[in-house]
Amino acid sequence: MRQLIAGNWKMNGTSAALGEIEAVCEMVTARPPACDVLICPPATLIARAAAQAKGRIAIGGQDCHAQVSGAFTGDISAEMLKDAGASAVIVGHSERRQYHGETDAMVMAKAQAAWRAGLMAIICIGETEAQRVAGHALHICSGQIDNSVPDGLTASNTAIAYEPVWAIGTGRTPTSQEIAEVHDHIRTCLTKRFGKGEGAATRILYGGSMKPSNAAEILAISNVGGGLIGGASLKAQDFGAIFNASSANP
Ligand code: PEP
Repeated sequence: MRQLIAGNWKMNGTSAALGEIEAVCEMVTARPPACDVLICPPATLIARAAAQAKGRIAIGGQDCHAQVSGAFTGDISAEMLKDAGASAVIVGHSERRQYHGETDAMVMAKAQAAWRAGLMAIICIGETEAQRVAGHALHICSGQIDNSVPDGLTASNTAIAYEPVWAIGTGRTPTSQEIAEVHDHIRTCLTKRFGKGEGAATRILYGGSMKPSNAAEILAISNVGGGLIGGASLKAQDFGAIFNASSANP
């Protein structure tokens, strides 16, 4: 399975940032990486980013509404993202869960919306620091899988992103052993529920302070199927150093 290296720009970037998209595309063309490359810019840039990328990399959204259309001021549907040129969408990011009160049930509905529109859903899960300290990290992750991953997952319609909340934007990361433990646990949950075909082949991304200096080590851990990268995806040079560290590791 090819790893997936996905950049989450969050609420960063105006027209000038399209230059970073072009720089990433040129890097991918000059030296094709061993992984799939996706950038999720703010919604305002998706159409222009997709036009700029011309298929050299994939473009995605950072969130979607569960409904196709309607009286939901400020929201964007999965169908709208698809129409703008997206092929994937992040759902259930911890910042959405924290600042927008998104529950597992809402995340599940958003993942179903992504599939309905023909988008790959990147479903985020992960424990808080207090939950890890209390020894509940594995339990929290399996609960989030049970309640925010819909029936119907396939290896091509979904990637799971394990993002320990305490590692996002903090410069702190779990040890390789801790990452391996959680990813192995997620793999077991997926295989039990979705079978040895789809459950075993679904990519499990690691996210949380991944950067050029730690990418090779993290991407070599078993059951790490790629990365979801925030801060270090904003600059083409840093993001390129991460996707060039990808191996064929499942
Ligand atoms: C993220 O927001 O998904 C993320 C992993 O952020 P960072 O890489 O900045 O920790």
